[in-house]
Amino acid sequence: MKRSHVPRRTRSPRAVQELVRLAAGLAASGSRTEDTFWENRLGVKINTQLHTGDDQNLEAALELLYDTDPAGYGEFIYAIEAAIECGTLTHEDCIYDVLMFAAPVLTWSRFSIPSGPIPEATLNNLRKQFQTHMLLENAQFSLADYLFSPDQLPRGYRLTHELASKLWAAVGGGQDLHMNPRQLAETGRFLSDTRYLLGAIAVPQGKPMFHWQEVSGTNHVSNGVPGVKSSKQEILHSWKTQCGEALRSLFQGCAFEVLLPDGFFSAWRMADRLARPYSMHATVDFLQSTLNIPTSGLCAVIAPFHDQFLEEYRVSFTSMDRNNVLYGIVWALVGEEDENSDTVTQIETTLQECGITNITLLDNRFSLEYCEECGVPLFPNSEGEVVHAEFPEEGEKILVHLH
Ligand SMILES: [Zn+2]
Repeated sequence: MKRSHVPRRTRSPRAVQELVRLAAGLAASGSRTEDTFWENRLGVKINTQLHTGDDQNLEAALELLYDTDPAGYGEFIYAIEAAIECGTLTHEDCIYDVLMFAAPVLTWSRFSIPSGPIPEATLNNLRKQFQTHMLLENAQFSLADYLFSPDQLPRGYRLTHELASKLWAAVGGGQDLHMNPRQLAETGRFLSDTRYLLGAIAVPQGKPMFHWQEVSGTNHVSNGVPGVKSSKQEILHSWKTQCGEALRSLFQGCAFEVLLPDGFFSAWRMADRLARPYSMHATVDFLQSTLNIPTSGLCAVIAPFHDQFLEEYRVSFTSMDRNNVLYGIVWALVGEEDENSDTVTQIETTLQECGITNITLLDNRFSLEYCEECGVPLFPNSEGEVVHAEFPEEGEKILVHLH
């Protein structure tokens, strides 16, 4: 019988083994020269996976390394991310370094948070801000004409690489990248969330891209004079103001804070990290103003939630006189954080910054539970039960599930 020619994507044990061998070799290397040897070979194998396979082999190799070689695991993640977000491009006999970058925006609103196509005038203004505040003169860059919600970022390595390739083609052609809204997922609605501007930068090989790469010391003071080299901190400061201005019309009815643009994965992790205290401040502001309760009348309950390992903390807000959970937020572990990280102290410090001092810490081992009807996470009350958050309807004493 003739076999079907429909390509089937299956895990290839040989490819997985080879990826693991190269990553472990890199982790065990004792010199820069040997590093380069392993990095080059690993880079080639990862690129093959990104072009021809799905994520299965990469994920299988990651799993194996996670269990057997933590240092190799770290090197492998770094190598995959580099293969996706960094590349080279040849244009008119000149070789360029290209980078996919993300510029995150933390935001909250009791109404709705925007996502979707960016109007042309705003896009032009953003281009101007990028060119002035972030990039050196020899850098060419391209932006995607879309404000991405986390649900709309590509899922997995291969799809992220596909988007990076489109952005690189756009920067090579001197154009912005047009995104088709119909091909992007729906955006979930949250009180506090992150938005991303995505783009690509190209510079002649080996040349710097960002203003901060030209600084020789971090103590350099520019006094905000345009054209004078600045430290990363100073650049972030002017970027927050200028990019914030450019985005204001897009974020009507929202509070927002722009973060420093950086390589896609690094910016993404930074946003995930900073979104946690940001959303806690937003939640406390929201509860205070909507329920007309002073922060001294709010209590917080913190509890750890596990799958196989510790995955996240869930923080519930209750009012002094009742035990029902008014609102809850998830404080997920990011990057290399695990049960040994001092996450609880960070959560407690943030709550105290928000003015909440009545804090209960539960050390039960909760499992990740969600509402069967609407899928929202369930939150701990001070008795150690996991319940649905119930928010009072406007000015009423009736408690409702926010379905
Ligand atoms: Zn529900």
